This record gives sequence, structure tokens and C-alpha cells, in this order.
Amino acid sequence: MFAKYLIRLDDAHTCLDRKKWNRIESILKDNNIRPIVAVIPKNTDKTLNHNLPDNKFWIKVKKWKKKDWTIALHGFNHKYHKIDRKSSLFPLSSRSEFSELSLRTQIKKIKSSYSIFKKNKILPQVFIAPSHTFDLNTLKALKSETNIKIISDGWYYFPIFERNFLFIPQQLWQFKFKIFGIWTICLHPDTMKTTDFENLEKNLKKFKNNFISLNDLDLNTSRKKKFYDSLFYYFFLCKLSLKKRLNLN
Ligand SMILES: [Zn+2]
Repeated sequence: MFAKYLIRLDDAHTCLDRKKWNRIESILKDNNIRPIVAVIPKNTDKTLNHNLPDNKFWIKVKKWKKKDWTIALHGFNHKYHKIDRKSSLFPLSSRSEFSELSLRTQIKKIKSSYSIFKKNKILPQVFIAPSHTFDLNTLKALKSETNIKIISDGWYYFPIFERNFLFIPQQLWQFKFKIFGIWTICLHPDTMKTTDFENLEKNLKKFKNNFISLNDLDLNTSRKKKFYDSLFYYFFLCKLSLKKRLNLN
């Protein structure tokens, strides 16, 4: 088995579920896993509020950074609008914080988000779009306002360098046995149940020697999309469209 796995934790913000995040932090520590963590600097998405605001949130982010966790900018406020799914580079969802907005608005959002990180003396290394939806204007805004060169998203086997960004693919939401490739497993600690935590522990033991952290990858690669990466994208999209159609009927 040559496959390598990255763990990504989504939706860290001041009102996260502290109990669940403490639990996942301790599990990851026991297994020596350093994940990517998607931080929302000014969350206004009420569905994500699980606790009263934590004044020490940014101290927590700094501690994660010290532990070699990769800090990602997860939008500005996680506020969605409806979109045509096909307008995003990875058309996973019909809602977005970024897709279809003008470049000016996207620049404003990215700038405001980045400035909160900077104010707290943390420079995010990666961009993670809420609901995986973003377009070419988002990339332009990132290029104009930040030093971020890495995006955690994409339906490929390996990281690819495209449009001046390195796309670290994100294809899984649970553990799956894979023979080769780089696989990012996206978890949402806030919504994890007791059984999910137990399964996580089991799987971390099972796939023990196959976890890496973002900085273990060659981040200067100029690897272009290969035929089999395009094939992966195509099949992922077909599977997704079929699922959406079945859900509608
Ligand atoms: Zn999110």
C-alpha cells in the first residue's frame, strides 16, 4: 500500500464545540497526526455555533501552529449564497461564500479575512473554500491579497500545479483503503458522534504508517495534471451528478 493520507479538520472558529475539538485534538496527538485545520476568522453562520465565543480562540490556533498543524484560511464569514453549481472549479455544491461574486467583492472578503489572521500574528498557508466552492476570481483575489499558494481541494490522485497554485486533492470524507495516491480526508469535528470518534481511533491505528502532514509533501512541485487525474475528476463528477439526480427524484 503506497497511498498516503492527510487529515483535514473543517470549521474551527470562536464558537466551535470545545468538548469535541478537545477530544479530536487528544486523539490526533496520541497518534502523532498533524492535520490541516480550516479556520473561519469571523464566522456568521449560526448553524456552526456550539458554544459561547472563546476569547482565547486565537491562542488555541497559535498552539496548533506550534504543534505543526497546517493553518488554512476557511473563507471570511462562512456566509453562503445560492449559486449555479457549475460556476465553481469543483462543482460540489449549489451554495458558496465566493463563487459568482465580483472580483472586487471577493478581494474585499479575502483581504478582511487575511487581515484578521495577520492581526493575530498567524499567516495561513492554505486556502479552503467553504463548501468547496470557488471560482477563478477567488484565485485572483488570493493572489492579489495574500501569500497563499496552496489550495486544499480537487479531485485528483496527486497534487497538481495549475493557475499558479498547488492543489492538494481532497477526495474523502471517511477512511477508505486506497492503493496509491495522496488522499485528504475531510472531517467536521463539531458534528462527530461518539461512534465517529471511536471509528477515527480505530482507523488511525489501522492506517498507522500512511499518514503525512502537508509539509511532508513536495510543495514546490510543478506537476501538471496527468491523464489519470483528469479521469478521476471526470468519474468523481459523474458519480456526484448521479447522486444529486437520485436525491432529487
Ligand atoms: Zn466550512
